[in-house]
Amino acid sequence: MTAYYDQHLHTHHSYDSEAEFSEYLAHTTGYVVTTEHFDVANPVTGQTDAPDYAQYVAEIDRLNQRYQGRVLKGIEIGYYHPKAAEILAYLADKSYDLKLLSVHHNGAFDYLDDFVAAMDFDDVFGRYLAELEQAIEQNDQIQAHVLAHFDYGIRLFDVARGDLERYEQRLIEIFQKMIDADLAFEINAKSTHLYGHLALYAYAIELIQKLGGTLFTLGSDGHKLAHYELGFDELKPWLKAQGINQLVTFRAGKRYFVTI
Ligand SMILES: [Zn+2]
Ligand SMILES: [Zn+2]
Repeated sequence: MTAYYDQHLHTHHSYDSEAEFSEYLAHTTGYVVTTEHFDVANPVTGQTDAPDYAQYVAEIDRLNQRYQGRVLKGIEIGYYHPKAAEILAYLADKSYDLKLLSVHHNGAFDYLDDFVAAMDFDDVFGRYLAELEQAIEQNDQIQAHVLAHFDYGIRLFDVARGDLERYEQRLIEIFQKMIDADLAFEINAKSTHLYGHLALYAYAIELIQKLGGTLFTLGSDGHKLAHYELGFDELKPWLKAQGINQLVTFRAGKRYFVTI
């Protein structure tokens, strides 16, 4: 049986990573899927950052001859509503094993820009949730498999469960839409382990389970080898304690459940 493998990884095909496939491949005998950044109108770089699909596929095809077909294709779609048409046009003629849906920015700033930490929490979170909801509502067209890092918009805030409980109704609406859109919920190891948001994930999982959601993934969001499968040894038993016994992976248009 195939072991679970990291469902959120970047290489040099992403604008903010230098990692090589071979580094990740050397650390596993199983599959490696990378989810490269596609960020339209990215305020971090002042341009649209998109992987060169032809180069990405060519490198993977070469590697797969050497690594027995262990390398899979993926993308992390940074949704920005005013550029929805550009996003759909890019995706139209490309195929992926795994597509993540994210919101990273709002056209003016990325939610990880330093000054966001000094902004009003409710302003930022309210705005971010509306953008997240809009992204999910477009998933009938985007056809992503996973909603990535639901807490990206508030990563820079020191947030406790109680801060999220004030948004319970909003979160329930959004998670219901996520479930209806067939999107899995990502447990993002960078959020839980580097941004201290484990308690927020416990709360989100609780809400999703109450709604009947069953699709969960685990992703490191690694941009370098040091973050590959970050904290997975701790997160797997932690997920079991939350009542999650299987995680989902995606290959060639199919879902595969893996018992953890
Ligand atoms: Zn992301
Ligand atoms: Zn990412």
